[in-house]
Amino acid sequence: MAELVQRYLDEILAEHADVADGMLADYIPELTRVDTAKCGLALELTDGYVYESGDAATEFTIQSISKPFTYALALDGIGRDAVDTKIGVEPSGEPFNEISVDDQTKTPKNPMINAGAIAAVSLIPASSPQDRFAQILDFYSACAGRRLEVDEGVYASEKASNSRNRAIAYMLQSFGVLDDDPDEVLDVYVRQCAIRVTSADLAGMASTLARGGVNPTSGRRAISPAAVQRTLSVMMTCGMYDSTGDWVTSVGMPAKSGVGGGILAVLPGQLGIGVYSPLLDANGNSVRGVRVCRSLSAELGLHFLSVTRESRSTIRATRDVAPRIRVYELHGDLLFAGAEQALRTVENDSAAVDVAILEVSRVDDINDIARGMLAGMRQSLNESGKEGFLVDPDRRVMPTGSRSAGAVVYATVEEAIEAARAYRDVQTGSANWVG
Ligand code: GLU
Repeated sequence: MAELVQRYLDEILAEHADVADGMLADYIPELTRVDTAKCGLALELTDGYVYESGDAATEFTIQSISKPFTYALALDGIGRDAVDTKIGVEPSGEPFNEISVDDQTKTPKNPMINAGAIAAVSLIPASSPQDRFAQILDFYSACAGRRLEVDEGVYASEKASNSRNRAIAYMLQSFGVLDDDPDEVLDVYVRQCAIRVTSADLAGMASTLARGGVNPTSGRRAISPAAVQRTLSVMMTCGMYDSTGDWVTSVGMPAKSGVGGGILAVLPGQLGIGVYSPLLDANGNSVRGVRVCRSLSAELGLHFLSVTRESRSTIRATRDVAPRIRVYELHGDLLFAGAEQALRTVENDSAAVDVAILEVSRVDDINDIARGMLAGMRQSLNESGKEGFLVDPDRRVMPTGSRSAGAVVYATVEEAIEAARAYRDVQTGSANWVG
């Protein structure tokens, strides 16, 4: 059944396969030595299940996507109030590398621009720059679910062409924002930007934020829920450079992009997304990455303002009504992540179940993607010699029409069970088998 979602992701990537607009970030020379055709997409559910499409295993440098994570580490390190005295939370309306601070407070406007990100590095309590970087690398690795490494080539390349960030660091020192040596702080910042990740790593990091700070694969807490909430809030308002407003309206997820071509997006409580495609628009966002995210959001119904009523547990109960026939009662609002979870449960049960009956009469609301997934369940089960029926008494949830095409819908559970018995008996060749 996972192939249903896989197919959606592959199709979305294929839809944008020809996008070749944009430019590489050439102010860091090493970033121009990448294959511009590469495009990867990964999605990690908050239970740790991962979907990958295209070049999801291709490595690139994290760049600005590091910023929210270092900010989160600073929040947990010294507390929100102390961080707030040094870094604001307001959108800046300026390019990410602007040499500026807030007129009134003389502190960086937010942690997603370079000034705020450099300040955030300096706020991580540490005994030395090496110790500070080690904490950062450990933390990113815990969020990604694997040991990450620095791209020494990109690090050296940015270090050698770093006057603008040096200007920012010294300006911060002059305003009393940086207490430590500006060059040492900057070195850690440049190193953190050069950490190599894949789209799958970004999806894991995003999913850790989506789960309130617990990495879904290791089950370990990497960061506090309070730091996650604050970080996601700032990502929502400042994460996509100067096109954050457009992003929030068209995609609708807290996100961060980087000039390495990556985008990380979070749907709290549900999933994390990582996308990679290196050609950037004038704001510094991956052109193809943004388009893929727009399609994902529209086609899978992921805009965060449309999912606020998603119930945490979609399957209310399961009942074995006869040998190898199981009824699944779904309830609440059924959107992408809920439907994905339900279908994956059916798939996981398939060794013990020949006919799955999904009773959807208690589903309050359903969107098109979830409807299409429920309808697609049957074909998927048929391919492995199994059967799947739906029970929807007045066809409120699965109305007759194209999105429900392919589904077999019964008015009552009893009718569905009868049909399931008939199917099972034909399959086993034992029409008289008492079940
Ligand atoms: N290392 C880059 C810089 O500081 C990161 C910029 C970005 O990804 O926006 O310029």
